[in-house]
Amino acid sequence: MNMNSVLRVFKSKRYSSPALRQFSMSSTRYDNHSCKFLVIGGGTAGCAISSKISNSYGSDGVIVLEPNNLHYYQPLFTLIGAGIKKLDSSHKEMKSVLPKKAKWIKDSVAVFEPEANKVTSNEGHTINYEYMIISTGLQLNFNAIPGLEEALNDDDSKVCSIYSPKYVTKTWTSMKDLNGGNLIFTYPNSPVKCPGAPQKIMYLAEDYFRNIAKNRNDVNITYNSSLGVIFGVKKYADALWKIVKKRDINVNLRRNLIEVKPDTSEAVFQNLDNLDEKFTVKYDLLHVTPPMGPSKALLNAKSVTNASGFVEVNKSTMQHVKFPNIFALGDCTDSPNSKTAAAAAAQSCVVEKNLKSLLNKKSLDAVYDGYASCPLVTSRNRCVLAEFDYSLNPMETFPFNQAKERLSMYIMKKDAMPLLYWNVMTKGYWNGPEIMRKIFNPFKFN
Ligand SMILES: Cc1cc2nc3c(=O)[nH]c(=O)nc-3n(C[C@H](O)[C@H](O)[C@H](O)COP(=O)(O)OP(=O)(O)OC[C@H]3O[C@@H](n4cnc5c(N)ncnc54)[C@H](O)[C@@H]3O)c2cc1C
Repeated sequence: MNMNSVLRVFKSKRYSSPALRQFSMSSTRYDNHSCKFLVIGGGTAGCAISSKISNSYGSDGVIVLEPNNLHYYQPLFTLIGAGIKKLDSSHKEMKSVLPKKAKWIKDSVAVFEPEANKVTSNEGHTINYEYMIISTGLQLNFNAIPGLEEALNDDDSKVCSIYSPKYVTKTWTSMKDLNGGNLIFTYPNSPVKCPGAPQKIMYLAEDYFRNIAKNRNDVNITYNSSLGVIFGVKKYADALWKIVKKRDINVNLRRNLIEVKPDTSEAVFQNLDNLDEKFTVKYDLLHVTPPMGPSKALLNAKSVTNASGFVEVNKSTMQHVKFPNIFALGDCTDSPNSKTAAAAAAQSCVVEKNLKSLLNKKSLDAVYDGYASCPLVTSRNRCVLAEFDYSLNPMETFPFNQAKERLSMYIMKKDAMPLLYWNVMTKGYWNGPEIMRKIFNPFKFN
């Protein structure tokens, strides 16, 4: 029996004398905690909602359970992968981003016990709560594709991904070291956070070879997507089809990456409409968007999730369908919106209001309409700002046609949004652009 196991047994027998605490390597290990609000995950959604709750309910009521020391603003990864921003600018220390009034337990949830209003962490903490908010995001499953991790970890392989901080800078080094050849960009057969990002990095690569390296004629660019459309919202899809045609980018739909062969620089794709049909293609640069899914803890938490492991919520109120004292937001829910930080912002406002109503024994009137936004960067000075709702209807903030590529939207994505994120959203003060939309479009949305 190792030291940790001995401590677990002592604790389970409620043998927690001061002597034992001194004996423990870490005095906070295996403690029992209680709180009014427990937030699981301190990423974009968890940080926004824990800040909102802390702002309203003050000190000592909120615990955030989050394992990572760094908090990333992931939307910057696209620009980092194209050499426009540095990795350092995308993260801050978790302790500086989480609300000061909340207590941070640096650990992951391992077991959910919603019937007992309790969770257990990986290291053995138990936390009892009155209300729980789940925001564990999406897990990147690089290991679901044979050969992919090996290729990503090989510095010479020219296989890269903006999806992980571990591989995002390799995307830029692979791109700028390339003299020509076949560039392949993929979109997996799974839910994806920021479904526009797999093609944004492709447009930025095309722009690099056309306008900076000036060897566009030496590269073939192909986008192999598992989806049946280039983008889910018709208005923006129409604009993107025009862009790919104008810029000579090949698009193959319903093609899913199933294997990477780094030794021969080959990628194997499957036709999702005829699974027996497989294509092996040579690559000189392969950018992979990995399959994604819920975190392991959720996959094991059958009572709070649907069959795929996503937290089952009412898509309007974001309240759990079975446990009224549980809410969820961000990428981990089964609400059928596009998984983006913009969606998490709009959801955080709804969760805050509905939580307040629940505490005051009122009906839950705040409604999330599925709002999501995706700034589709198409070059180093242009961006299409897609904004839409559950029905995939455009829901544009500005009083102009946002399907048009614009410099103003690019500057907003590159410079304004990071400032908004770090100074307003993570502090709990951003509810999405609804107010701006009403001001700019007084007759359309009021
Ligand atoms: C390349 C890229 C580009 C993007 N571009 C955009 C964009 O332009 N616009 C936009 O709006 N969105 C964009 N996004 C999407 C956006 O970053 C996510 O939708 C957003 O971060 C979701 O927030 P979240 O809190 O649900 O998940 P995350 O921010 O990923 O946070 C989840 C947190 O949960 C923690 N966690 C996981 N498992 C556990 C556990 N068992 N216990 C405790 N904690 C756990 C993790 O450590 C993490 O901190 C982009 C994402 C990527 C990767």
